[in-house]
Amino acid sequence: MHYSRKLFERDFPTDEACLQRIMEMRFPGNMARCDSETCGGVLRKHHQVSGRTAYACHCCGRHLYPLVGTVFERSSTSLLTWFRAMYLVGIIGPHISAKQIQRETGVTYKTAWRMLRLIRTLPRRGRSILIRRLRRSRRSSRPRSRLRKRNR
Ligand SMILES: [Zn+2]
Repeated sequence: MHYSRKLFERDFPTDEACLQRIMEMRFPGNMARCDSETCGGVLRKHHQVSGRTAYACHCCGRHLYPLVGTVFERSSTSLLTWFRAMYLVGIIGPHISAKQIQRETGVTYKTAWRMLRLIRTLPRRGRSILIRRLRRSRRSSRPRSRLRKRNR
């Protein structure tokens, strides 16, 4: 099935939805090691803290920041804008122009250019936050071995 714009908008209506996807990718089932004194490194379920980019341990409430260590960590661009840009790269391909991303997402050309550069360098797993779903629907003509090499 084609991953349409409409489906994308339904899957990712807000920044929180994007954060949720990143959390799922990094910590499946929202299970993460909690290093607080109470939990002592045990795997615990975490829940989203509203209005923040944090998740809290179910047991002790200690915060976990799923964006730490990702390209999104220090970005002033919203997650939703990032996801829209990644969606476009996934649909159109890595040759998409910064101008096109600018037009579609409403950011400045400079921001679009920066996002595009970063998205192209994202490791396969990072990009697959979103693009994995696109790949399945798009019959890629590019051999896998070449993709892997480029993404190293
Ligand atoms: Zn805990």
